[in-house]
Amino acid sequence: MSATTPLEPAASWYAASANAAPERPPLSGVVSCDVCVVGAGFTGISAALHLAEQGLKVMVLEAACVGYGASGRNGGQIVNSYSRDMDVIEARFGARTAQALGDMAFEGNRIIRDRIADYAIDCDLRDGNLFAACNARQLKGLKEHKALWERYGNTSLELLEGDAYQREVSAEGYTGALVDHSGGHLHPLNLVLGEAAAFESLGGVIFEHSPLVSLEHGSPVVLRTAAGAIRAERVVMAGNAYLHGVLPELEGKSMPCGTQIIATEPLADDVARGLLPNGMAVEDCNYLLDYYRLTRDNRLLFGGGVNYGGEDPADIKALIRPKLLKVFPQLASVRIDYAWSGTFLMTLNRLPQFGVLNDNVYYAQGYSGHGVTCSHLAGRLISEVMRGREGRFDAFANLPHLPFPGGRLLRVPLSAVGAWYYQTRDRLGL
Ligand SMILES: Cc1cc2nc3c(=O)[nH]c(=O)nc-3n(C[C@H](O)[C@H](O)[C@H](O)COP(=O)(O)OP(=O)(O)OC[C@H]3O[C@@H](n4cnc5c(N)ncnc54)[C@H](O)[C@@H]3O)c2cc1C
Repeated sequence: MSATTPLEPAASWYAASANAAPERPPLSGVVSCDVCVVGAGFTGISAALHLAEQGLKVMVLEAACVGYGASGRNGGQIVNSYSRDMDVIEARFGARTAQALGDMAFEGNRIIRDRIADYAIDCDLRDGNLFAACNARQLKGLKEHKALWERYGNTSLELLEGDAYQREVSAEGYTGALVDHSGGHLHPLNLVLGEAAAFESLGGVIFEHSPLVSLEHGSPVVLRTAAGAIRAERVVMAGNAYLHGVLPELEGKSMPCGTQIIATEPLADDVARGLLPNGMAVEDCNYLLDYYRLTRDNRLLFGGGVNYGGEDPADIKALIRPKLLKVFPQLASVRIDYAWSGTFLMTLNRLPQFGVLNDNVYYAQGYSGHGVTCSHLAGRLISEVMRGREGRFDAFANLPHLPFPGGRLLRVPLSAVGAWYYQTRDRLGL
């Protein structure tokens, strides 16, 4: 990340409809604090807010502006649990680890809802999301998924078999769906802006346009930007896929991935209700999944695909519009007003990476495409471990962080080959 070029927010519908936020000056000079957080996305701001609530002096360094990364650009879907589900965790890591992670699988969702209520955050929260099956194998998977989540305490699930899914999605071609009434969707940029304001209301400080350029381990840790330095007793690294080159230890075992979203012009009420009658957010079950929902002003916000390595495609509309029209051909004449890209961080086992370097530099990253809820949980767990309650943080930190085959050079082409294989299986319904 360059220390000199100011980074502008993505030209997204979120940026165009963001709540007012204050100008936050860059860091200058040398300051000290208990905890310095690097990155003002959900992970960083969630950690900062939890720590400030405990009375600690917390400062946030943000390379661009609050919500500049994936947190201010994503699909806004409140998806419960993790990118790798509990059955795989049970099989690979045993009952004890599975129970520990399963006990927390729905907590991120609750944290978000508590934040919105406690700090009166205006971010268009709506209840309900669903997973749409594209073939019989996926529907079978959804039935198993329902039984699994119920075992871990989610009793808000409803399976819609056959055409019954059309109660929620007026599209052809799905074989069924699983509704999670406890999920939902929201305006993610306004959520993180609201959480940042809550943090500041407790005395927290955010320095925007202040990319961290070097970190000197020690006690205190010294974090330098182009114009200043922070001396901090402890650090939270929350740069996720946008962190480039500052701490190579955090970058070798994960891969940035781009995904793109388009937003239509506002649709007439009856047209919008004709697509998603009850306003649910939808994601399909394909390996390279499509996800969509309505906004508060009746735009259809549609995202899809993954490009490994995170390079932005030249023409996002040309890439995503055909996917949208495949689901809703009736929108062929609808204008696309916004198109943007964002980068999330994928791990090989699709489980997040939590850990600590040198005893006082904590990190959480790599939610592998489903990070709205888990990033909020991560912030709470970091605040717990800093108070000496390490059990729940360690349940994640003890998971292995596996390197991608091919290393930094070949991980992108090798992953593309793997994705092609799974995509072909999805297409053939295997
Ligand atoms: C297009 C898209 C759609 C998605 N849709 C969904 C969805 O619907 N539901 C879901 O659950 N998940 C979704 N995700 C994933 C989710 O958005 C992320 O997992 C989550 O937002 C990660 O939050 P974060 O705070 O860890 O990282 P980010 O939000 O990426 O924040 C990292 C921050 O660190 C800053 N930073 C980086 N390096 C430095 C540095 N050197 N100095 C200072 N600051 C630095 C960046 O500028 C950035 O602001 C989506 C992701 C994308 C990209």
